[in-house]
Amino acid sequence: MLPNTKTTHWQLENTYSTLPETFFSFQEPVPVSKPAVVCFNDKLATEMGLSFLSEDNESQAEYFSGNKLPDGATPLAQAYAGHQFGHFTMLGDGRATLLGEHLDPSGQRLDIQLKGSGRTPYSRRGDGRATLYSMLREYLISESMHHLGIPTTRSLSVVSTGEQVYRGNIDEGAVLSRIAKSHIRVGTFEYARNFCSKEDLQALANYTIERHYPAIKDSDNPALELLKAVLDQQIDLIVHWMRVGFIHGVMNTDNMSIAGETIDYGPCAFMNTYRLSTVFSSIDTQGRYAFGNQSRIAHWNLTVFANALLPLISEDQDKAIALAQEAINEFQGRFMDRWFRMMFDKLGLLHPEEKDKDLVKELLSLMEAHKADYTQVFVALQEEKELEGALFKAEEFKAWMQKWEGRCTSEDQKALRFERMKKSNPTVIPRNHWVENALNSAVEGDMKPFNELLETLSNPYGHHPDEIQFQQIPEDFDTGYQTFCGT
Ligand code: AMP
Ligand code: MG
Repeated sequence: MLPNTKTTHWQLENTYSTLPETFFSFQEPVPVSKPAVVCFNDKLATEMGLSFLSEDNESQAEYFSGNKLPDGATPLAQAYAGHQFGHFTMLGDGRATLLGEHLDPSGQRLDIQLKGSGRTPYSRRGDGRATLYSMLREYLISESMHHLGIPTTRSLSVVSTGEQVYRGNIDEGAVLSRIAKSHIRVGTFEYARNFCSKEDLQALANYTIERHYPAIKDSDNPALELLKAVLDQQIDLIVHWMRVGFIHGVMNTDNMSIAGETIDYGPCAFMNTYRLSTVFSSIDTQGRYAFGNQSRIAHWNLTVFANALLPLISEDQDKAIALAQEAINEFQGRFMDRWFRMMFDKLGLLHPEEKDKDLVKELLSLMEAHKADYTQVFVALQEEKELEGALFKAEEFKAWMQKWEGRCTSEDQKALRFERMKKSNPTVIPRNHWVENALNSAVEGDMKPFNELLETLSNPYGHHPDEIQFQQIPEDFDTGYQTFCGT
């Protein structure tokens, strides 16, 4: 692989376009009238070997609005399908184009996708565009997830288009540059299974394995191993979400990445008060994607993935189903195992025992009963501080504290325990009211609150001068808070 250390040029390839043509349509971004850079991620650009763009505002605006194509780009829109709120439908990149796969200096292959880049053959009735508000929202939260140590697509830039988009109101349009290990989704496999030949499905599986899971290439049953590998990645991902209180909000199968990254920041939000049934998305009226439902939905989505892979797992359908079922049945046990391990880390239990599971469950039910803030409680335990509010005053909680302290007695391991907790418990998360404040200012033209918030969120496990203010939630803010499928 070329060590592109000087970073004087793009390193674009287009392996996706070697797939059968049914998987994509060649499509250039639709030019915009007046591109202007709203934010640019210098650090990420440097990591990617694109530092030659850092000082060059004009090039940033031209390339990342889609007005000018980088050398080596062969833009395309990807075809995919998906289950949206449980209903199967044909989808595809209706407002995004993949410029190509950039090889970073370490040889890592990264998709550069422009989101909001105009209509494509998959746009249906949509305008192919995105609002500045929603693209900045994706930028802010995806970067925050990255700094929290959670696998995610990244955001390289947001460029406003100088054009209006209509979403009930008139909004300013923008294009986000999204960087991803790939944009292959569970929905891409559903598309292949439902609308393409078995050869096409096989080609997609081979491509995916080569790109993301090369170690399983020579196994006896690569399709089955692919299912197991994706299942494993998804468990890790959801456990991370549960660790920090992240609610994805729209875990449709087209929004589940085969590479295991968090993708599509539409109505996502972070939970303040601990409550399993927390939902902020305005369209999730049944709570399908509620905080506490996320592992169940991941399991459901993986069953859809398994179903798409069946013809590749075995020619004998009964055998294929049995093998896939066996793999899928692993989900629940493994998820619980890793979830408890994560919770033990949050509590600094270095040598957990079976009975510590009750300690975890008891704490969470006390937190729910006393409406405690998920983030604040763990930071308080870690720092040995008391919080205001009902939880710390409750007798049952005091009794719980004694039990927990009893499990943390050995003084010599105190430092180790603290370190473990510190890595698991963020001091700052993107609090909904701060996110809204930053975004509302940004669309009015004042980027200061946005940039300050981004800065704070780039160090989520450290201490900040403004941390207390950051952790306080305006009373009843969450009660009426709603997020939207930001298009
Ligand atoms: P999302 O909710 O972003 O996951 O998008 C679901 C589907 O709707 C995808 O196929 C998108 O490409 C498509 N879509 C969303 N917004 C638009 C839009 N403004 N124009 C065209 N297609 C869109
Ligand atoms: Mg999507």
